[in-house]
Amino acid sequence: MNFSELKLTRPLLKAVEEQGYKTPSPIQAKAIPPVLAGYDLLGCAQTGTGKTAAFALPILQRLAASHPSHKGVRALILTPTRELALQIDECFANYGRYLNVSHCVVFGGVGQQPQVDALRRGADVLTACPGRLNDLIGQGHVDLSRLEIFVLDEADRMLDMGFVNDVKKVIRHLPAQRQNLLFSATMPKEIEQLANSILKKPVTVKV
Ligand code: AMP
Repeated sequence: MNFSELKLTRPLLKAVEEQGYKTPSPIQAKAIPPVLAGYDLLGCAQTGTGKTAAFALPILQRLAASHPSHKGVRALILTPTRELALQIDECFANYGRYLNVSHCVVFGGVGQQPQVDALRRGADVLTACPGRLNDLIGQGHVDLSRLEIFVLDEADRMLDMGFVNDVKKVIRHLPAQRQNLLFSATMPKEIEQLANSILKKPVTVKV
């Protein structure tokens, strides 16, 4: 199996090749086709499996296929820590280098103004930690009303870190019609319930 068999477009194949990736990892081989096709996805995978590219590549391809005139966020990735948020945003930068898809990242513990400025310039893909995102939403700095794709990354860690109410609060600002992806290394009952409340007829992939 190679990346071109996954029906990724030239600009993404070129970026992936430049990253030095030769073959898709198991989570990528299983998740990319259903995400490209627009399905909701429940992914059981840990960090280190290539999970970020498994959602970033098909999201970039879907967003690049159309260019709406509005400036609102089109894809939102919620992740529990600043380190993960920075890594994910960097992946969108790397994989999307030959596409016209903008991205930015917001997290707490640092000044808010540079993040507000970046959002104002426009971000198709926003990677965020839930606390800071809710602050920015509350102040009217983030428009999620036209969101197309929502990703909840590391759902089990979100739960462990006590972010579930923050996550639910963010979700209340999303349009009902959207594609949802949820990733978790483990699937305890609470995550299953959360997944059931977010995902519609998901494809399930496990690695
Ligand atoms: P992640 O699980 O998304 O944190 O990715 C773990 C590491 O694997 C990152 O350093 C990626 O750059 C790398 N990686 C992701 N996909 C592939 C692939 N198909 N081949 C080789 N390395 C990869």
